[in-house]
Amino acid sequence: MDYVSLDLEWNQAYPEQLEAVQKRLGTRLRGEVIQIGAVKLNADMKIVGSYSVIVRPRFFKRINRHVARLTGITQDMIDEGKPLSEASESFKRWCGDDFAFLTWGPDDIPMLEDNFRAQGIDGGWLRRVYDLQKIYNRQTDGSNKQRSLEFVMEQFGLPQNLPAHDALNDSYFTALVAQKLDVPKGVAEYDLKNDLSDGVLLSDVTGDADVGQAGYRTAYEATHDASVSEPTCPLCGADLSFPDRTVHMKGQKYLRIMVCPEHGKLLLDLRVVRNLNDTFRVRRTIRVLDGATEEKITARLAEEAATPRPRRRRRRPRREIGEAAVTVEQGENE
Ligand SMILES: [Zn+2]
Repeated sequence: MDYVSLDLEWNQAYPEQLEAVQKRLGTRLRGEVIQIGAVKLNADMKIVGSYSVIVRPRFFKRINRHVARLTGITQDMIDEGKPLSEASESFKRWCGDDFAFLTWGPDDIPMLEDNFRAQGIDGGWLRRVYDLQKIYNRQTDGSNKQRSLEFVMEQFGLPQNLPAHDALNDSYFTALVAQKLDVPKGVAEYDLKNDLSDGVLLSDVTGDADVGQAGYRTAYEATHDASVSEPTCPLCGADLSFPDRTVHMKGQKYLRIMVCPEHGKLLLDLRVVRNLNDTFRVRRTIRVLDGATEEKITARLAEEAATPRPRRRRRRPRREIGEAAVTVEQGENE
């Protein structure tokens, strides 16, 4: 298998325009890719090729001046760039049949997927991705710090003799860092889901209409979908028991205590976010329950038990109670 180290430059929209375009498309699009840069490493981690293309944006056509200053990419360059459909075809061909992406940080592939979706381009081939930053962390100090590429290159004594913020140069730098790490080992360990480093056992999002999933009609539906709110143990797959119901904390946050016969008390943490098309998505995190959070939940349960709900509400259908009880923030502020 080959590795393709990837870096993108994207054009940042101005805020009013960003809002309008996303609403119109009904899909998440926080910027438009204007350069794809990549370097290919073979199974022996030797550099065997490079790729770079300038892409012509379709929705945010004026180059953002900060982006221009940072990247050196000009309006003329993007005006003459390839349409994304063409660029993606040629890039896909260059990547080949058997490869995995290596990126520095988690942002590049989601950005490319968003761009593909906005233009109806198939992004199914983008799925095999390893965030080299995570592999670096695991193989060095084990922290969750987001080290910059510059920092890591300096640490490894790699000369930065090319300008940064060029997608090709940055993907080349990423490839050099990859050569200093044990990438095959990192890839093998990567898929283990019980990464206990920050106590998170599982983290996922359901109902994200902004990335093409079907959204929930109400916040109540989002938090009471059994496939979301009644998981099995992420560590052993056992059925969990739920001693109490889900409590509604502040704003869009819902918590529930779950018990695994093997792994003890776990915490289900749900956050509801409004999608661009006014449906809802839910971000779910499962972690080991800590004492402070357990106390908060117990206090909240007691509070709810002591305050009888108003009669008016009790007569309304359950779904509306959940709906009325929640205020949801718009957009990407999870
Ligand atoms: Zn378990």
